[in-house]
Amino acid sequence: MTRARRQITLSAPDIGPLERELVLEVLGSKRLALGPVAEEFEQLVARRTGRRHGIAVSSGTAGLHILVHAFGIGAGHEVVTTPFSFIASSNAILFENARPKFVDVEERTGNLDPAGIEAALTPRTRAILAVDVFGHPARLEEIAAIGREHQLTLIEDACEAIGAELNGVPVGNGRFADAAVFAFYPNKQVTTGEGGLIVTDDGDLADLCRSLRNQGRATTPSRGPQATPSDGGDAWLDHVRLGFNYRMDELSAALGVAQTRRLDELLERRAAVADGYRARLDGVEHVRLPTVDPAVSRMSWFVFVVQVGWNHPAGEQAGLRGRVMRRLEDAGVPCRPYFQPIHLQPFYRERFGFVGGEFPVAERLGRTSIALPFHGLLDGDDMDYVADALRRAVGREA
Ligand SMILES: *Cc1c(COP(=O)(O)O)cnc(C)c1O
Repeated sequence: MTRARRQITLSAPDIGPLERELVLEVLGSKRLALGPVAEEFEQLVARRTGRRHGIAVSSGTAGLHILVHAFGIGAGHEVVTTPFSFIASSNAILFENARPKFVDVEERTGNLDPAGIEAALTPRTRAILAVDVFGHPARLEEIAAIGREHQLTLIEDACEAIGAELNGVPVGNGRFADAAVFAFYPNKQVTTGEGGLIVTDDGDLADLCRSLRNQGRATTPSRGPQATPSDGGDAWLDHVRLGFNYRMDELSAALGVAQTRRLDELLERRAAVADGYRARLDGVEHVRLPTVDPAVSRMSWFVFVVQVGWNHPAGEQAGLRGRVMRRLEDAGVPCRPYFQPIHLQPFYRERFGFVGGEFPVAERLGRTSIALPFHGLLDGDDMDYVADALRRAVGREA
């Protein structure tokens, strides 16, 4: 008898009874925007990261854009950042007409290599934007020290890393960056549907971010048009600066509150799946498993990315990876080439003239990486199935 094909998804949100209950409560309350639930979510995430302020926004990208804008980064400025990331971390710099200055990454983690930062600094450098790739904290202590020495703003893109800890300090914490951003798209560890959240200890920056997300209004969220007249609702029509509509609604925030209350459980489930894959794939020839730096006291597994054919000749890697992915897909195992380096994306090539070869480590990771199906609801049979499919695909192709 042939085995029935399993329905394995690349990612899946873990939505339980608490999420349903809190979202229904918001529907019953009839207050769907600018309400107390977003504030509760902000406080939960801020407390969890040891920060004074949290600002909920409509996406991780919106949070990064607000920060680049709020720090006054614009035309003529450069921001040192990584080419091995989701494109939004670099696009946020372009939105404000500043220029990303890419620095190559570390081979083991795919994170920004602090050793390359100083050579990339110019008189135009205003900030460093570090990314905690795949839920593994970047070398934030060293990057922060470089930032302090050169009086640069440090923005942390923690969109893939909520709950991760470096030497016992949570990512997003003030020991590292001036401000950090989390993201809650449905493939992330914590989801709100669409959503993001900025954390910082700087009260003035927090006020500015609140204004920027809310059309440049100077007022606090509790004074929206749903507020009672005694709240001074007229201020709703005062706009003191150019702002955006980057607010988070109450339904999304309710999801976020429930998921954040379950954060430890969600991260433990994902860690168990990562361990399960590791046990099944350990020692498979031509497959390199993800490594966790000893300084990472807690990993927040976002994806499980393996490198296939890492030691193959460069010219053969992309082809090999493509054939392995095709075999996985044919076996019903969805997978993705995480990441295609940002500088090689078509519009970055066109705009900045990148041709390949500029950032060899990021590019090698880009030619060999495969993200396997990964979320907290995968069971042992799913992991067996994926691991077998990968072993067979690599055995045939490599
Ligand atoms: C997901 C992600 C973002 C953006 O998040 P959205 O909520 O999808 O806008 C930014 N940076 C990184 C590294 C991400 O993984």
